[in-house]
Amino acid sequence: MVLQSNRQKVARCLIGCGANVGARREQLDQAIDMLRFMPGIQLMHVSQFLETRPVGGPPGQPPYLNAACLIETTFEPIEVLDMLLAVENTLQRSRETRWGPRTIDLDLLIYDDCVLKTERLQVPHPRMTTRRFVLEPAAEIAADLEHPVSRCSIHELLENISQRHLHVAVVGVPGSGAPEIADAVADVTLSRLIHAPAPLPIAGWGALSTKQVSTKEPTEQLLLLSQKYADPLLKANWPDGPHGTVTDYWIESIRLAAENNSAIDTNKQFENAFASISQKTVTPHVVLLLNVNRQTLSERIAYRAHAAQQSDVFADLVAVQTMTTSDQGIATLLSLQEHLIDCLLSTQGRQCRPKAVIQLDSDDLGKAALDAVAAIEGIS
Ligand code: ATP
Ligand code: CA
Ligand code: CA
Repeated sequence: MVLQSNRQKVARCLIGCGANVGARREQLDQAIDMLRFMPGIQLMHVSQFLETRPVGGPPGQPPYLNAACLIETTFEPIEVLDMLLAVENTLQRSRETRWGPRTIDLDLLIYDDCVLKTERLQVPHPRMTTRRFVLEPAAEIAADLEHPVSRCSIHELLENISQRHLHVAVVGVPGSGAPEIADAVADVTLSRLIHAPAPLPIAGWGALSTKQVSTKEPTEQLLLLSQKYADPLLKANWPDGPHGTVTDYWIESIRLAAENNSAIDTNKQFENAFASISQKTVTPHVVLLLNVNRQTLSERIAYRAHAAQQSDVFADLVAVQTMTTSDQGIATLLSLQEHLIDCLLSTQGRQCRPKAVIQLDSDDLGKAALDAVAAIEGIS
């Protein structure tokens, strides 16, 4: 078959397919046939159809049939998306509720090693790494295909979520709602819940950066804190029961926060000392990475200052209460948040990185909790 396009390079794409309304099998067959006969596309492999239970969305939906296809194409990523949406339209796909019932759903999961995020298209698909209904059919036809962010094969991603004792870490700056989201996930999954032994000392670092304090002192304090963070996460004491563990922190946040703070001298000695502590700890299988905007952060800091005595909500903001009126405090949190996101979603390989990182907006905590629960429910 001759691929027709001005573009010479042929890209390999993984497509996820699903249907849970109407004649599911026929609709999947029709969608796949449209891909088969589309100019500019060569259909390489199609998985078997797998029946799965619905994840997220309104309750009471019928079960899904899921499948995966591997194609080669000369289309650009956005052209592949447009083509998939056109096929969906032909098969009367409607969009009424988020994750609602559908005659057909076609997602662009992976496009070569392309990593892109625009308003209309994000590749690799941001929720694929915790979705068994995506990874299982995909592993059947493309086990060795590499996910360009985690640098893991589809097979490894599937293995990662198939652990008997799953560890989910909710990671975010103070005020992002990590404890609240971790509570929600632990509730639904009946997991063991571990809260951070102490808040990240964001405000403390402001004080530590004044000239009166030697640059050595903060790193020593950070190592003490790292040890505190490490204790509940030690490999040696880690359980292996079937209910899993949810933590509202990951020890790496300390290293990344130190790295992001110019007042702290993260020299080789600190790096080595930190590494010898952190390497005794477990690496989470899944990180739910929270993202809040400036407005939400300032409101939460103000709220925390007023409600500190009455409520446990945003207890992790205790260390930043002194920043209530300080724009600089909020800027510090936002810059740390950017660094966390950059590092956890970077494509550079790192030995002990989590294989599945799902980014969640947590400006609306109720919605973030639903998204977090859906991401984790996709695992089983
Ligand atoms: P999910 O994306 O969580 O699987 P969904 O498939 O139900 O949910 P849709 O309503 O089908 O979501 O898609 C909403 C929009 O997502 C699409 O109109 C499209 O612009 C956008 N989108 C972004 N990235 C992708 C992608 N990789 N594949 C498909 N659609 C994408
Ligand atoms: Ca989808
Ligand atoms: Ca879709």
